[in-house]
Amino acid sequence: MNDGILQEGLFIDGISKAAVSGEVREIINPATESVIAVVADGGSDDINIAVERAEAAFRKSWKKCHSRDRTKMLLALAGLIRSHSESLAVLESRNTGKPIRDARGEIGLAADCFEYYAGAINKIGGQTVPVSSQGVNMTFREPIGVCGLIVPWNFPLVITAWKVAPALAMGNCVILKPATQTPLSALQLGRLALEAGIPPGVLNIVPGEGNQAGEAIVRHPGVRKIAFTGSTTVGKDVMRLAAEHIKPVTLELGGKSANIVFADANLEKAIDGAVWSVLGNAGQDCCARSRLLVEKSLYPSFVDALEEKFRTVKLGEPLDESTEMGPLITRQHRERVEKYIELGQSEGANLRCGGDAPDFENGYYLNPTLFTDVTPKMYIMQEEIFGPVLCAMPFEDEADAIRIANESIYGLSGSVWTRDGGKALRVARAVETGVISINSAHSAHLETPFGGMKESGIGRELGLAVLDNYCELKSVYFHTEE
Ligand code: NAD
Repeated sequence: MNDGILQEGLFIDGISKAAVSGEVREIINPATESVIAVVADGGSDDINIAVERAEAAFRKSWKKCHSRDRTKMLLALAGLIRSHSESLAVLESRNTGKPIRDARGEIGLAADCFEYYAGAINKIGGQTVPVSSQGVNMTFREPIGVCGLIVPWNFPLVITAWKVAPALAMGNCVILKPATQTPLSALQLGRLALEAGIPPGVLNIVPGEGNQAGEAIVRHPGVRKIAFTGSTTVGKDVMRLAAEHIKPVTLELGGKSANIVFADANLEKAIDGAVWSVLGNAGQDCCARSRLLVEKSLYPSFVDALEEKFRTVKLGEPLDESTEMGPLITRQHRERVEKYIELGQSEGANLRCGGDAPDFENGYYLNPTLFTDVTPKMYIMQEEIFGPVLCAMPFEDEADAIRIANESIYGLSGSVWTRDGGKALRVARAVETGVISINSAHSAHLETPFGGMKESGIGRELGLAVLDNYCELKSVYFHTEE
């Protein structure tokens, strides 16, 4: 890919086109602050057109497409993602500021996701169910129709794949709205889908503002299902708007996950997990373990070791292979994170390191930031900061750790570190969270359900569980009495 400025349209019915309004948006590289693309900015008129084309594609081609052919097309798409993986990784890195080696991993995950759901297509069916009257009841999984998929900017292609792959696998057509700041990899995916043989109109991509294109998708009566990933605040609005047409919603929302470290843990691994589960993707990760709870006897030495690690993380140009942490996504987002850092200091937390920006000429960078002596009720311990900021505090015992971990409106992810298997499982079961890892900071596996409890969301993605989000279960009773 050259360094010129890309010109991109909306991707509707297999064609790149200007927005009806003629509006465009500049896309900024957060590491250089320079414009890397100019992209058409969709609004409600564009969504109306996209829905009409998607409905037509659903009726004419996709609904009737043999499952074997859908499998082949999704596999072909996975293959094309792999063969374009380096250019996609560079594009994703330039658009988000994430280190290139992370971006490469994410493109691989997106390809894996299309492969997984391609393989699931012919393994999912209905049942024959014994009923009390004479006859038999059959259930069928039927596609819903046009699905509206709305995604955030932190893992653009991965989260897109998590939604698009199962939606298409179950025979639905899609209107995808990428995040306003990061539409580039999704637009590329649209072109690759066409090349893979997926008919025009099946996958439509409409970049635009949340309160324009996003709201138009949620409000449109022709969009029969909404799958949304983003903040809890916007998720609540989406749910309210979707109620107008009793539209099913899947919501993957914010988090403030706890990382619970007992004194008997493997310390090397626990420290590494504590560092990278909050500094990975510059902390812009819904599963970031941004609340660190350490058993009292271990706490002083553990936070000393963490501080040392935080101070040596290599920030820099995302395309540099040795960079470990890139910038935040926008200037406004960095300002928001900085406000939380000021708030933490005014609340009396101890700023052990970071809180400031490195001395770089450009880019929305922020140094890894560690707060210690935080208390559970502080805002910095309760609210999702979504930046490289870790809040640490000690706990007394198992019950205390569980109590503090559950003092949150969120329940998305988390970790427990201990060599005591029984304790690990007791704590993992007691923490109110959709996903939790023992002796690991890993959050999502393609093959297992992923999602949040409490205000972290509704429904599950990934695994075979997500397929229920993208189909209607129909019952057909066959009366057999003579
Ligand atoms: P956001 O809520 O601001 O935006 C998410 C998407 O919704 C974007 O595409 C945006 O344009 C769109 N949007 C905004 N307002 C809308 C509206 N009124 N109607 C319809 N769509 C609208 O979130 P963000 O800043 O892009 O992403 C960060 C948030 O996403 C964090 O809270 C993070 O925890 C969350 N997130 C959750 C998960 C998960 O799986 N649970 C994964 C990644 C990110």
